[in-house]
Amino acid sequence: MGKALIIGAGGVASVVVHKCCQNPDVFEEICIASRTVAKCDALKEKLQGGKTKITTAQVDADKTEEVIALIEKVKPDIVINVALPYQDLTIMDACLATKVDYLDTANYEPLDTAKFEYKWQWDYKERFEKAGITAVLGCGFDPGVTGVFSAYALKHQFDEIHTIDILDANAGDHGYPFATNFNPEINIREVTANGSYFEDGKFIETEPMEIKRVYNFPEIGDKDMYLLHHEELESLAINIPGIKRIRFFMTFSERYLTHLKVLENVGMTSIEPIEYEGHKIVPLQFLKAVLPDPASLGPRTKGKTNIGCIYTGIKDGKEKQYYIYNVCDHEECYKEVGSQAISYTTGVPAMIGAMMVLTKQWKKPGVYNVEEFNPDPFMDALNKFGLPWKETLTPELVD
Ligand code: NDP
Repeated sequence: MGKALIIGAGGVASVVVHKCCQNPDVFEEICIASRTVAKCDALKEKLQGGKTKITTAQVDADKTEEVIALIEKVKPDIVINVALPYQDLTIMDACLATKVDYLDTANYEPLDTAKFEYKWQWDYKERFEKAGITAVLGCGFDPGVTGVFSAYALKHQFDEIHTIDILDANAGDHGYPFATNFNPEINIREVTANGSYFEDGKFIETEPMEIKRVYNFPEIGDKDMYLLHHEELESLAINIPGIKRIRFFMTFSERYLTHLKVLENVGMTSIEPIEYEGHKIVPLQFLKAVLPDPASLGPRTKGKTNIGCIYTGIKDGKEKQYYIYNVCDHEECYKEVGSQAISYTTGVPAMIGAMMVLTKQWKKPGVYNVEEFNPDPFMDALNKFGLPWKETLTPELVD
């Protein structure tokens, strides 16, 4: 059916590549392109021989001209951006120049300010409309599946949704004293930022980790979780009509938070460049270099993740509660695709989102967040491609 250009060759990209190869009727051909071509070649080596044809290429996606040249050579039907958020705009520019559809899993963040928001990418809406191409933003798990869950809840479970609590639990244990489950730089920038939640039409800011709750997660048990700012709050606040409150909670162990506090206190999480023996280095980038590569956690991680959304609202004049979630097992993921569950839960939805565009089910000119599309075919595909969801009408609520 189509050809995808996958940019990036890290933890998430590896899962996207595996999953495209499991779906060769849709992904007849893929090109894996990244800064370090050896990583692309290693993926090709592992997966070639199946029905999906695989090629590789070197690209510096910070340079729009390089991405344009690559797209012109490969002629893909869609670009799946699973590099880093810093490359979102250069890749979107290249898609505009070549009129090719675009999908990513994380919103743009300038390298020098730890602030992520959609405004930069939403600014492309008119240009994508005029070019007749589709951009799907934030199509990992959170953001991504959390938006699809919300569209599904609104379509099938509620007349009005009043509150959404997004709960992201990782009960995995990799055996290291401290490591992050995806790109350490992006992860630490996210969790050391101020928290925020949406209530009564506005965002309320909190100190980092100021709001803590304990939640008894299905199939995982009691975990400490903390309120964070998260990308999908911004789009769901606009796209879910009548919404009164949206919060996002993520679990962290005491050990993780203690290490992070020390690293912060000694200045290792700073993104301000410092002078070191005649070189300028960014402490957080140096820290990334000494921490375990998230891709190396796969064989060591045991336990499960549980990510989902609790909704409250009204159906047929009555108050209703609804919790929908996915539980994913790190070891099962590793057995299937050689990655832990964090990369898995991000890579599977990215492949499904690209499939939605290639099969024209999510094809409309413009720039969209996932909750703006029909959730039904995506929900079916989650069950088919390794992220089955469960639901309950009697969840424990978060106070
Ligand atoms: P990794 O650091 O493992 O991989 C990033 C890849 O991008 C690497 O292969 C890297 O190349 C490549 N890359 C970086 N800069 C460039 C560039 N200028 N040009 C070309 N390639 C480049 O990250 P992850 O796989 O863990 O994460 C990928 C994305 O997924 C991130 O944007 C992250 O925020 C997002 N994510 C989204 C989640 C969600 O649920 N929505 C959850 C988790 C992650 P090199 O190997 O040379 O460094």
